Amino acid sequence: MQPVMQVPLLDLAAQYAPIRDAVVDALTRVVDTQQFILGPEVSAFEAEVAAYLDAAHAIGVTSGTDALLVAMMALGIGPGDEVIVPTYSFFATAGCVTRLGATPVLVDIEPVGFTIDVDAVRQAITPRTRAIIPVHLYGQAADMTAVMAVAGEHGLAVIEDAAQAIGATYHGRALGTIGQFGCFSFYPSKNLGAAGDAGLVTVAADGHAAIVRMLRVHGAQRTYHHERVGGNFRLAALQAAVLRVKLQHLRVWTEARRTNAARYRTLFAAIRPTIPVDLPVELPGRRHIYNQFVVRAARRDALRAHLRDHGVGSEIYYPVPFHLQPCFASLGVPPGALPVAERASQDTLSLPIYSELTEAQQRYVVETIAAFYARG
Ligand SMILES: *Cc1c(COP(=O)(O)O)cnc(C)c1O
Repeated sequence: MQPVMQVPLLDLAAQYAPIRDAVVDALTRVVDTQQFILGPEVSAFEAEVAAYLDAAHAIGVTSGTDALLVAMMALGIGPGDEVIVPTYSFFATAGCVTRLGATPVLVDIEPVGFTIDVDAVRQAITPRTRAIIPVHLYGQAADMTAVMAVAGEHGLAVIEDAAQAIGATYHGRALGTIGQFGCFSFYPSKNLGAAGDAGLVTVAADGHAAIVRMLRVHGAQRTYHHERVGGNFRLAALQAAVLRVKLQHLRVWTEARRTNAARYRTLFAAIRPTIPVDLPVELPGRRHIYNQFVVRAARRDALRAHLRDHGVGSEIYYPVPFHLQPCFASLGVPPGALPVAERASQDTLSLPIYSELTEAQQRYVVETIAAFYARG
């Protein structure tokens, strides 16, 4: 039987349709200049993002992964160093630490916000600890007051993984501007998505910003004169051009996601009898931008199959915490050691929340979930 309605997890075509002409014009403008790497288009984008976030420095890079990598390189993190990361995030958060020869120290998350458990961070600190990477998961802030306090007490750097959180705030401050570094991804499924891979680092200190800019071009301050070993982390001008067009719409798109989240709350509240689904919680002082709308659901996998059969897209972010990944087995963190993350990996499910989602589609998603539990 054909589903009554199709509700994809994300509909980039719907977002693109009304801005098509502007995107094509921007791409044409860059192609006509034949200047493809960095240059004025990238500088303009950086200035616009810095203004959007009220960041001291914004530096465009190749991806969110490279944003994390270059921030840690700027701090000189390497072999013998430890970096504390939540065990529950996208792989890059921990993978970058290992790639630099340092050791990711995996800690559990908080059960409500899904972000790093700062009590666990305190317990994980050793003389080798150099930095903490709080992840603003799904678009909502980690407990930055507590993170900054513990970092300050121990002289640790804070690198915010804000890949999912552009425009989200913590007590009014944009995420990515609270720690020494903020790392953003413009992977197409992020709230601000490029036409391919792209990313950005926000940097608080002028000195660090100069180092990141240098590392971005193989550690050369002057071409062919290398002060440090960096990499090719250059943002492409075509990506910057697309991102500049989309940045103009980001406030409206973000509001639409928040409106959709509020509507889900109303629709779910109306379901009787109550179903075993917990909705995401907006914590005080934290403006959530809903890169994902993540519920916790009983019989999650069966629910997901039911949604798929009825035309509704969903996804599991993330099915396996870092400490249970084969590549991190050598860290020696056994199953059961980080139980909050393990539970989240078993019962969380992302529902469609993108800006162009219609009320009818949302009703259909909620009705389809209600029907699954009514069936028993
Ligand atoms: C997407 C993402 C990244 C990596 O960004 P890429 O642009 O895909 O390299 C890092 N951390 C988190 C939390 C992410 O969601």
